[in-house]
Amino acid sequence: MLRNVKTYYKPTTVEEAVMLVQSNSATIYLGGGAWIVAQGDPTLEAVVDLQKLGLAEIAGDVDGVQMGAQVTLQELIDHTDAGKLANGVLGQAASYTQSRNLREQGTLGGTLIVAGAADPLTTVLSVLDAQVLYADPEAHKAPFASFIAYRDRLIKAQALIVEVRVPRPSARSAAAFEVVGRSPKDKPIVCAAAYIKVEEGLPALVRVAVGGAGEKPVRLLKTEQLLKGKLLTAAKVTAALQPALAVLKPQGDFRGSAEYRLEMAGVLARRALLEAWEKARRGKQ
Ligand SMILES: Cc1cc2nc3c(=O)[nH]c(=O)nc-3n(C[C@H](O)[C@H](O)[C@H](O)COP(=O)(O)OP(=O)(O)OC[C@H]3O[C@@H](n4cnc5c(N)ncnc54)[C@H](O)[C@@H]3O)c2cc1C
Repeated sequence: MLRNVKTYYKPTTVEEAVMLVQSNSATIYLGGGAWIVAQGDPTLEAVVDLQKLGLAEIAGDVDGVQMGAQVTLQELIDHTDAGKLANGVLGQAASYTQSRNLREQGTLGGTLIVAGAADPLTTVLSVLDAQVLYADPEAHKAPFASFIAYRDRLIKAQALIVEVRVPRPSARSAAAFEVVGRSPKDKPIVCAAAYIKVEEGLPALVRVAVGGAGEKPVRLLKTEQLLKGKLLTAAKVTAALQPALAVLKPQGDFRGSAEYRLEMAGVLARRALLEAWEKARRGKQ
């Protein structure tokens, strides 16, 4: 419950929404409200409902898919283009964020703002070369890696996420997502995503990220460098993962010890890389 909220704004422009939040520290953006209502912060005095900003659309064209910040997680999964993009990994990751009821309520923007260390959507967007459009109130566009790195700064500046863009994967490329949770459909304890583009029979582009093995989802850049241009085998992938895994510092909790998380990060990253590689070189969508 938000017992002390006295004012409810419903602006019609992005600029107005940002100004309203930035002018009062006790005012907050209201996406789907799933997290805000569950938190019940007693210091909140006003909310800025984002429903009238026209940010609930998904649009696809030859270049990619644009998803407004107010698109719900379930809309993303059900959308014929977004849900199936990149071998369906975007829809698959969204299906692991929350239960069905919360996916109907929770929005893309709200989810990316409160995303935890093992957030599947953040992990998948990291390998899909996504971009985040935000307003502070000026319009900006950030590569997804920068968004993750500077998310706390954006939250402090009370910037508004406007849209997420995912480029359409090129021919001869494929993505894969792997996850381990307490049950087959539970939120991830650890997850991994990979994207591989093949040229002349070899990986010309390799991206791999893991969630749940550090403070936030992270790209394994060293592994990507080591695997580029090599014929991938399980042994080569395992060896290339070692230097990147060696610098991860997972925190253990009741869902998984630090050792378990590190072990799973390696297992899932290897599976995701090999699956993406097989699909890409066989031209499977
Ligand atoms: C029982 C329960 C369990 C949950 N468990 C988890 C969990 O384990 N992990 C997890 O990550 N989340 C969890 N959540 C949180 C929540 O369900 C999801 O993260 C949800 O998808 C948030 O989306 P929302 O649109 O409802 O966000 P809201 O609740 O509307 O907003 C969340 C935050 O994001 C900000 N915000 C919203 N939209 C934007 C925007 N476009 N630009 C900038 N800021 C914005 C809000 O101001 C707020 O600070 C849980 C919620 C509930 C009720």
